[in-house]
Amino acid sequence: KEETPKSDSVQKELRSPICCIMGHVDTGKTKLLDCIRGTNVQEGEAGGITQQIGATYFPAENIRERTKELKADAKLNVPGLLVIDTPGHESFTNLRSRGSGLCEIAILVVDIMHGLEPQTIESLNLLKMRNTDFIVALNKVDRLYGWKTCRNAPIGKAMKLQSKDVQMEFNNRLTQVITQFKEQGLNTELYYKNKDRGETFNIVPTSAISGEGIPDMLLLLVQWTQKTMIERLTFSNEVECTVLEVKVVEGHGTTIDVVLVNGVLHEGDQIVGPIVTTIRALLTPHPMKELRVKGTYLHHKEIKAAQGIKITAQGLEHAIAGTSLYIVGPNDDLEDIKATAMEDMKSVMSRIDKS
Ligand code: GDP
Repeated sequence: KEETPKSDSVQKELRSPICCIMGHVDTGKTKLLDCIRGTNVQEGEAGGITQQIGATYFPAENIRERTKELKADAKLNVPGLLVIDTPGHESFTNLRSRGSGLCEIAILVVDIMHGLEPQTIESLNLLKMRNTDFIVALNKVDRLYGWKTCRNAPIGKAMKLQSKDVQMEFNNRLTQVITQFKEQGLNTELYYKNKDRGETFNIVPTSAISGEGIPDMLLLLVQWTQKTMIERLTFSNEVECTVLEVKVVEGHGTTIDVVLVNGVLHEGDQIVGPIVTTIRALLTPHPMKELRVKGTYLHHKEIKAAQGIKITAQGLEHAIAGTSLYIVGPNDDLEDIKATAMEDMKSVMSRIDKS
């Protein structure tokens, strides 16, 4: 059965920004992902969210719905947001070699009770090195003593409901975290107080358990990327595609999970990684509700960026995570593309050797 993904006819020119989650262990990265994915699922409707291969796709509609309490006037011009499930792809994150980077923006998660921790600083250094923009999710605000739950509320609204003591503890901890970032050479500020957004990174207080601040986080990610990265988010027919994982899947042989950053992939496209082969199938898992149907995938004739996709083809056992996938177009010279792919592979391999 062939199915094509829903096309978003309104926003033709822009592709979805890609976001990843980083931070110290136990700060709540997985929980945050669960939380942003799960809100509507618990009510029996996934709101168009699809958990894809190594990534979760949030259509703009879903984000609009979840952020409506914030009464943001700014339009959402991107078709949605693609969040890479980094906790499972940590090794990949560290391998990312190319200047442009895979993600437009990262969520750096900090536990409000712990402040900056060793892996927070490691993540920061990676972000600096790759020149990747980020926002800070100051997570676990619900652990402040006496916190009143305000499920899925914007953080401003939730904060107003808190006692003076809670507000004071929050401010103290926030100030400490801002000081710690300063020690790392970075200016940060609570996002709704941040007047100097170019130089000062935004902090969004969140709870991955009760959902406070999640609307703010989603809106900030989308608005910030579409405001500052229009050029980069402009849809292009030039395929930009990165291999996340190489794995054997029963019934499909060796497959690769990729993130299609830009362009369109078609069944039958000739691809060049370490080897030259032809796309046999473009697969995505079923939408959220049917995730339990293990091992079955939706087939697509073509898929438009940005999306997470599983590709089946002959010879994929030679593919390498972290490398780019190149498409041979009608006017392309295969030898040129092979040479480019080889260069790319070498640079990824040298990084693996170094780490
Ligand atoms: P990860 O290692 O960064 O992926 O962290 P997890 O998402 O696995 O979370 C680590 C622990 O912190 C788990 O026990 C979560 O239930 C808990 N946790 C995560 N986020 C929150 C939060 O916002 N509030 C509270 N109270 N606990 C949280």
